[in-house]
Amino acid sequence: MSIPILGIDLGTTNSAVGVVDSGFPILLADAAGKRLTPSVVHYLDGGGITVGEAAARSKVTAPDRVISSIKRKMGEGNHPEEVSAEILKHLKGIAEAALEQEVSQAVITVPAYFNDGQRNATKRAGELAGLEVVRILNEPTAAALAYGLDKLEDKSTVAVYDLGGGTFDISILELHDGVFRVLATQGDTSLGGDDFDIALAEFIWREGGDGSAFSSLEPSVMATVLGAAEILKKELSEKAEATVRLPFVLPGHHLEVDVTREDFDRVIRPILQRTVSPCRRALADSGVALEKLDAVIVVGGSTRSPGVRALVAEIFEQEVDTGQHPDEAIALGAVIQAGIIEGSLRNMVLLDVTPLSLGIETFGGLMNVIIPRNTTIPAKAGEMFTNAVPNQEAMLVRVLQGEREIANDNWELGKVELSFTPGPKASARVGVQFRIDENGILEVLARDTATNEDTILEIQSAAVDVDDEAVETMISESVEHAFTDMAQRQWVEDEQHAQELLAALTPSLEILGDEIEPDYLERICSAEAAVKAALEGNEHLRLKEAAKMLEAETEQLAVMLVEKMSGIS
Ligand code: ADP
Ligand code: MG
Repeated sequence: MSIPILGIDLGTTNSAVGVVDSGFPILLADAAGKRLTPSVVHYLDGGGITVGEAAARSKVTAPDRVISSIKRKMGEGNHPEEVSAEILKHLKGIAEAALEQEVSQAVITVPAYFNDGQRNATKRAGELAGLEVVRILNEPTAAALAYGLDKLEDKSTVAVYDLGGGTFDISILELHDGVFRVLATQGDTSLGGDDFDIALAEFIWREGGDGSAFSSLEPSVMATVLGAAEILKKELSEKAEATVRLPFVLPGHHLEVDVTREDFDRVIRPILQRTVSPCRRALADSGVALEKLDAVIVVGGSTRSPGVRALVAEIFEQEVDTGQHPDEAIALGAVIQAGIIEGSLRNMVLLDVTPLSLGIETFGGLMNVIIPRNTTIPAKAGEMFTNAVPNQEAMLVRVLQGEREIANDNWELGKVELSFTPGPKASARVGVQFRIDENGILEVLARDTATNEDTILEIQSAAVDVDDEAVETMISESVEHAFTDMAQRQWVEDEQHAQELLAALTPSLEILGDEIEPDYLERICSAEAAVKAALEGNEHLRLKEAAKMLEAETEQLAVMLVEKMSGIS
């Protein structure tokens, strides 16, 4: 048997590892039979290190030597990488013990909102642990893979609601031609099951403590009550009522409280409610209508609570999928992705698509997409372009690949200069067509419709054959810069509009000359000056307003021009 690629969920609270075994994705258990490993590292006094359950137990006795939730710090220097590497080494060890062979490659999941730096830090943590990271996979995509491609029709949209120990993520994904795309992602990086534990512990203490405030308790007593609250919470996922007993929690004080599921739901309500608006925002951002969602997938251990699932069903107005262990789904998805890469899950072959958008640069240095990302190949698409300035003799067609709004932020695959017959502005007609064949070879054809002359540029395989990692980087950067990119595009567009207004003004003023009332001329000149000032100052809002003003002021001018030209006045 060849060496399998590991699938790893490197979670904030818990981590898990698995492989494809005889065609089936499975998670691997440690020596104690556990498939989930707490993401906790204990740096022992003597220099040794323990990871997982043992480390988690030392949290109370050696709080300053035990590190948990390190994932929150990913990308902030070397330390988080080193701590994460210890967790990954531990998982690698679990896998090697279970498989009785050495492993060296892994797929590791990260939140969809992780930026480039955080993704690279995760990769480096893998390398420090002796693992080549063959793919960084988005957690919601992993969840959707575990849910099952077979249950989804092509062109479906799914919502993945992930509530873990300390983080909440909501993502809207689109499955198209066998490939998942994250349409929108929102969340709260400090919201999760830990908050339920605190709220429940406070409730238990109010009901059965000695009358003192929970916040005034000794750290060790607090930890005991918190631990009991977490156990109680898990019991209440299975039954409607449970009892918490803590004899001698304080000297001479026994605690015994009966708690119902309704009590629990009431206690967590305000916390849980905070997941509602991110869900609504993600839906709005994705542009997917509620009734168009084909599935709502819940993952993360905290969605084992029935109250949580009920709220999710309420938000999305549909039943949630309960077909899988919510805290194992992401690791299973990572395993499935590993299986696809190594070829052990052959029936899940994903179709060949363009991993990134292809387009050309247009005026103002913007990206004009001709074939969008995730288009199945072979594919063909085209667009008509014209000259932006009068008497232009040539146009540079720069073929670009990427998801950024600004041409220069994308990759240049090639360029070709296209000459055409000089004429007034917008008189030239140049058709640009992109064709990608079955082998991923991109052919760019540019045609001057006046002469019917073609210029052809062939770009070998680059259209489809892009390094996965580079694609991930490009996409995460486009998500990261979405707002600034969009603002930049709007600025360029408004700037061009303003320049056109200014350019049209001078000849009009010359033609009309004295016919313009001095008052009116003054208003026009001051509007013109405002536009110029905003342009110079790079002030977008002011430019918009000034351009609007100038447009309004010159309306009358246009009428006068037309009248003069047609000899009415
Ligand atoms: P993360 O993604 O943050 O690493 P998990 O998805 O494993 O973590 O979720 C851990 C959280 O799930 C913890 O707060 C834990 O208490 C909670 N949890 C685990 N099992 C249950 C259960 N049966 N009922 C309710 N909450 C649970
Ligand atoms: Mg998780």
